[in-house]
Amino acid sequence: MNYTIETDLKKIKDFGKLRENENFKFRTFLKGQDPNKVDKIVHKLNAEITELIDCTTCGNCCMQFRFGVSDNEIEKLAHTLNTTPKQIKLDYIQTDPYEQYFKNIPCDFLKDKKCIVYDNRPEECREFPYLHKKNFNSRLFGVIDNYEVCPIVFNVFEILKSKLNFK
Ligand code: SF4
Ligand code: SF4
Repeated sequence: MNYTIETDLKKIKDFGKLRENENFKFRTFLKGQDPNKVDKIVHKLNAEITELIDCTTCGNCCMQFRFGVSDNEIEKLAHTLNTTPKQIKLDYIQTDPYEQYFKNIPCDFLKDKKCIVYDNRPEECREFPYLHKKNFNSRLFGVIDNYEVCPIVFNVFEILKSKLNFK
């Protein structure tokens, strides 16, 4: 399938504001659709659009979000950076009673739009923007938040509108 996709981060951010109302209307529309049918279309679109977008030249999620990190992942980061888990926690991690996550935005490990710990990046980074997961319809607030940040989400959401004849 040939798609014309948008990858300009500035335009995508602007569309996020311009289409805020439309996106919330589309959210309501999606709630009336068969969730399994929506998942099937989104999973296929996600695979197709992800193929067309090079995350290593984008890095926008790493500039906008704090991703969660497990102890096991901190150990891997320490190993990659030739330091100790304790030092990684001191330098890069924020902890609250329920979770721990990278403390800085943009992420400290993003250099020239590239992740310097890419092979050992945490699962939350690896899985973002989560469009391969089930129950897309139950995560629509998060999807709309990510629409103005992530070109994959933006393009999948726009093509989904057209595939479902949303007006
Ligand atoms: S660890 Fe890498 S992939 Fe994860 S937020 Fe930081 S730069 Fe991005
Ligand atoms: S997941 Fe989205 S925001 Fe993150 S680098 Fe890839 S295209 Fe950019």
